[in-house]
Amino acid sequence: MSDTNAIEIVLNGIGASPGICIGKAYSVDKEGVDVVRKYFIGKENLRHEIKRFKAAVKKAKDELKVIIKNSNKELRQQSYILETHAVMLKDKMLYGKTIETIEDERINAEWALKKVVSDLKSMFQNMSDPYLKERAADIVHVSDRVMKNLVGAEAVNIADIYKRVILIAHDLSPAETSQIQLEKIKGFVTDRGGKASHTSIIARTLEIPAVLGLNQATRIIQNDDIIIVDGTAGTVIVHPTEETLVKYAERKIRYEEYKSAITRGSHLVAETTDGFQLPIMGNIELPEEVVSVIDHGGDGIGLYRTEFQYLNSSVFPTEDELFDNYMDVVEIIAPKPVTIRTLDINGDKAITPDSECYETNPALGLRAIRYCLQNPEVFKTQIRAILRVAAYGNVRILIPMISSYDEVCETKRILNEVADSLDKEGAVFNRDIEVGIMIEVPSAVTMADVMAENVDFFSIGTNDLIQYSLAIDRGNSRVAYLYNPLHPAIIRVIKHVADVAREKGIKVFMCGEMANDPIYMPILLGLGLDELSMNPQSIPAVKSMVRELNIENVKLFMKDVLKQTSATAVMKLVQDTYGSILYDKIYHE
Ligand code: PEP
Ligand code: MG
Repeated sequence: MSDTNAIEIVLNGIGASPGICIGKAYSVDKEGVDVVRKYFIGKENLRHEIKRFKAAVKKAKDELKVIIKNSNKELRQQSYILETHAVMLKDKMLYGKTIETIEDERINAEWALKKVVSDLKSMFQNMSDPYLKERAADIVHVSDRVMKNLVGAEAVNIADIYKRVILIAHDLSPAETSQIQLEKIKGFVTDRGGKASHTSIIARTLEIPAVLGLNQATRIIQNDDIIIVDGTAGTVIVHPTEETLVKYAERKIRYEEYKSAITRGSHLVAETTDGFQLPIMGNIELPEEVVSVIDHGGDGIGLYRTEFQYLNSSVFPTEDELFDNYMDVVEIIAPKPVTIRTLDINGDKAITPDSECYETNPALGLRAIRYCLQNPEVFKTQIRAILRVAAYGNVRILIPMISSYDEVCETKRILNEVADSLDKEGAVFNRDIEVGIMIEVPSAVTMADVMAENVDFFSIGTNDLIQYSLAIDRGNSRVAYLYNPLHPAIIRVIKHVADVAREKGIKVFMCGEMANDPIYMPILLGLGLDELSMNPQSIPAVKSMVRELNIENVKLFMKDVLKQTSATAVMKLVQDTYGSILYDKIYHE
């Protein structure tokens, strides 16, 4: 232990990737970058200053190239993030604007860059879409690299770490995380970041325990401190006592046994003790992620978010590009189903960030199906690609953000029109595909009985449904404590949708984050959901939980759940009744 007299400190953050690790802290310092000062540049030196900035950008680009080339193989599929960073370096919003600011304000490159980044950051952070909000972090990572080159600070080289350590950082950039060697890094701890940050996604992909959003970790934890990271509970313990160390060493063993057990069972169906089979599917954003769904035992793709091809580009993908992309997914996982969700994008998100389209409240703006119905050519191109690929596998189509029955009818009309034109052209396609709608807007819940007459399935998107039902911005950390899937209103809303679906004889699925957590399974099964879809890494734990449950019992249990008046009371009830199944395996002493 680093300091035998030090007092044990327990820090609570966001459990971003489950598991337990114990080891020495290794602090990844970025000093130098945050303390730039402003000074004026004489007219005669402006050209030199711009040259200095350009050289720093060029160096950053070269560094990224090397990192992409040497990045660890588990993270190859994430290298698109770094490619995007390389492109961002030369983006006119960052590159052009910084040069302009140096010239116009006659200030040093560091200060100009800092100013431009700060403006861009607030622009991205004000966007309602969580994906775009996260792009603010990309801007910071990209500019940090340039800034380091400008101020001549030491670049953090994670690839050079030679001992097995737990990384402590204010934040980790995708470039840094992609250098991680699994045999060197036991876990991550960061001040910043949330469940949707790149660090968190990468930690889950690598299955390394991680706790993020601790705020003070870099201040409290020193190099070589012994720490315990419990990514399941979201806890970090600094200077653990002998007793705590022993306790966590045992928990770690139990966690590993539990993980091997659930992994062994992940390829079997998730069947309750009384024989109900619940398909457990994977959510993906890129075709490469299908492999992870298969590896984790997914029964198909319950949500393919198709936005990625439309972002980071000034032109929309062609029908053939879309077809090839969808084909990559369908072919690999056939005959299992693939649920392709049509474009769920804000107007401003689709048309690249520097567009003129500004909405004060984009979450309530021209988003998803609204955007598609206003841009029928974009929509038709995507539907053509989906109907064509449906000839090669089990494909379903899913429409996001439906808020009125008219939208369902108009979508169905366009679908028929596209099918007719494909028919006329003699194209290979399948018009008999299941059409479902996302239930994520309260008006769709209220109109569920009407909607059910014209669709084949519902898929409940709890991420937005909670946001719109409880009036809580899903990306706003200041109200995150209110964002709770166990809010009795949310449980009643899901119950209503499931009851209507059952009455009308259609299926009801869930693909929002609520489906990820094993502790919610008694409720979701009790409410009668027919299929769940989640991030691939959660599949084994969810399947394992489903196998411990009995439909008759969870239905009875729901009667008690529906009597509760707060999310805390629901959580307590579910923990007291079913928590032991889950946590005793790891936490019982
Ligand atoms: C949801 O809203 O729950 C959902 C699955 O869609 P997204 O997170 O892509 O908005
Ligand atoms: Mg949604």
